[in-house]
Amino acid sequence: MIGVAVLVSAEAYLVDVPVETVRTDAMQSFIKQETLFVELACDDGMAGTGYSYTIGTGGRAVLSMLRDHLLPELLGRDARNVEGTWRALYDSTRATSVGAITALAMAAVDLALWDLRCLRAGEPLWRLAGGFRDSVPLYDTEGGWLQLDADELVSSALEAREQGWKGVKLKVGRPTGVEDAARVRAVREAIGDDMDIMVDANQSMTAPEAIRRAALLEPYDVAWFEEPLPADDVAGHERLAASTRIPVAVGESMYSIGHFREYLHRGAAGIVQVDVARIGGITPWLKVAHLAEAFNVQVCPHFLMEIHVSLVAAVPNGRYVEHIPQLRAITTDQLSIVDGHAVAPDRPGLGIAWDRDRVDDHRVA
Ligand SMILES: [Mg+2]
Repeated sequence: MIGVAVLVSAEAYLVDVPVETVRTDAMQSFIKQETLFVELACDDGMAGTGYSYTIGTGGRAVLSMLRDHLLPELLGRDARNVEGTWRALYDSTRATSVGAITALAMAAVDLALWDLRCLRAGEPLWRLAGGFRDSVPLYDTEGGWLQLDADELVSSALEAREQGWKGVKLKVGRPTGVEDAARVRAVREAIGDDMDIMVDANQSMTAPEAIRRAALLEPYDVAWFEEPLPADDVAGHERLAASTRIPVAVGESMYSIGHFREYLHRGAAGIVQVDVARIGGITPWLKVAHLAEAFNVQVCPHFLMEIHVSLVAAVPNGRYVEHIPQLRAITTDQLSIVDGHAVAPDRPGLGIAWDRDRVDDHRVA
């Protein structure tokens, strides 16, 4: 093969990053961030870094998928042919696709290829992936966890308002719908009408229960009702969406473009929350965002603000980035927030300043 972008080395390793605060929702606690890294190098000396994650389980399975199956496929390929590589990896893992472990592994590779692509072009990700705008509105999740009491929710929401942030997300799924509604009401009364409040049930409810609870929440002008039901219950989401004025948000637990197509086609998703790691990388993330645009639906991705800021900024239907800082222990700079907007990094590459020494310190495999 001729050219200057032949992949000559591919490595993967696992880094455990402790969570910055206790994060409990209706289904789980975020124990640690298992962070998968992929390092790629080309014959001309160019190198790219990608990453992926779990919130506590399966990290070593993802690492094995990378080391045993995906990375050997990469050697000798042209790093510039990102679509071709994504498809080749997908075709080589049909025995375990569609699935979380494979998608998370493919994402780490795809992000490294996009890092290389951006570095080679001398452009930041937000521009090379589309270039719609250089900053995006931000909402806070970090002050809305389920274990916090109503007074703590209110003080965090007031702090978010003080900082000029545009919204706050509150976890729901307390024992009764009345209690959930009382918590949302307390925050709405404290912050006034000009900020968004989102609620998130983390797939904990049945359709009838979600329909009942949505009715209790409607008076507080809720911006969206996130993951009310298990992600595989498309029909349930469709029924809920038809029964409430609150937009239904889904996507953080979905691992294929086709799953999003099904939701959008059936009118079961009012907001799409595609997660760049869980969908398998930037390459499929952009396809989901553009698919949603065709349905006149906005994208508000799940978690990973450090990379999603650039992707939300890339597309015309990006609406929000979610504030959950989680990479501060292994990076040398922080997400820049100005007037309630997260600023997409403007340097070439993915724009994440890894602290290599601290990454090494946290490495576990
Ligand atoms: Mg969520």
